[in-house]
Amino acid sequence: MRTVIPDAAEMHDFGAALAGRLRAGDLVVLTGPLGAGKTTFTRGLGVGLRVRGSVTSPTFVLARTHPSTVGGPPLVHVDAYRLSSAVELDDLDIDFPHSIVVVEWGRGMLDGLTESWLDIEIERPLGASQAAPSGLSDDGFDLDEPRTVTITAHGPRWAGDAGFDPEAADDEA
Ligand code: ADP
Ligand code: MG
Repeated sequence: MRTVIPDAAEMHDFGAALAGRLRAGDLVVLTGPLGAGKTTFTRGLGVGLRVRGSVTSPTFVLARTHPSTVGGPPLVHVDAYRLSSAVELDDLDIDFPHSIVVVEWGRGMLDGLTESWLDIEIERPLGASQAAPSGLSDDGFDLDEPRTVTITAHGPRWAGDAGFDPEAADDEA
């Protein structure tokens, strides 16, 4: 499925809403350039999952675990930017079956780790790459711009899920 998210607050809410569709063992891979909104999305997801602590960019720690405050699965937030393979991701010893795992920059790094995942691609509008990074305007204020979000489900976990499985959606139509 593909949708347009008009601003950062809506991206946050989009992440929070997706929380209701996820359960322990689920893996979400986020793809998009610097400043696309990957961490903004994950912050909203953390709020939706009611985890402890607010989600910040994990760039300097590679992975951060946010326990649930309501007895649900923890959110494990990974920044794979400086990892180069599935082996290195595996070395982080993430408890995949009991967690909801979000990996920024993880596309192409999942070989053999899992059979199902949600691929979420966030694209900035054409020309936005010429603007200052991180969505900041020259005078330092956040510049809200639409993002295109494309969700592609991979593997049996999502088969028959009308929200993510294109074939199931066709059946309903
Ligand atoms: P990433 O983790 O992909 O590098 P961040 O979520 O850290 O990106 O930063 C995204 C930046 O873009 C934030 O400053 C946010 O306020 C801004 N922004 C502007 N418009 C949007 C939008 N529609 N969705 C998400 N973020 C947006
Ligand atoms: Mg980020």
